[in-house]
Amino acid sequence: MNEPKTRCKQCNRSILQRTADKREGFCAICHCRQPNIPPDDFEIPAPHAERIKAIGLDPTNYVQKAWDEKSQSFSDSDDPFEKLVSNLEDRAARYLKWLPEVREFANACGRKNPNITPESCDKI
Ligand SMILES: [Zn+2]
Repeated sequence: MNEPKTRCKQCNRSILQRTADKREGFCAICHCRQPNIPPDDFEIPAPHAERIKAIGLDPTNYVQKAWDEKSQSFSDSDDPFEKLVSNLEDRAARYLKWLPEVREFANACGRKNPNITPESCDKI
């Protein structure tokens, strides 16, 4: 075990080169203290972006979240975007599954109490 080392560009602590490569030249401690702003050229990888579009969402709304996932990923074998995208897909599937039942329930309530208004709800 004689891995190449370098120094943290913030605190000058000796760190492994692979730590520096993964954390923009910072040690883990200094890296955590950096504002986690995605670089201008960061994009959600195309296959993941396509999956987000396929469920009717705009991938540009998830750039910060994707960057956060990537930053918090410690293993190279992990796909840091998979969890984000599969969570969005799960949420979309639940929405589509339950929406008709929720609408039907709302309609049934409307038929049962046709005179109900937001004002009458305030008195309950
Ligand atoms: Zn440091």
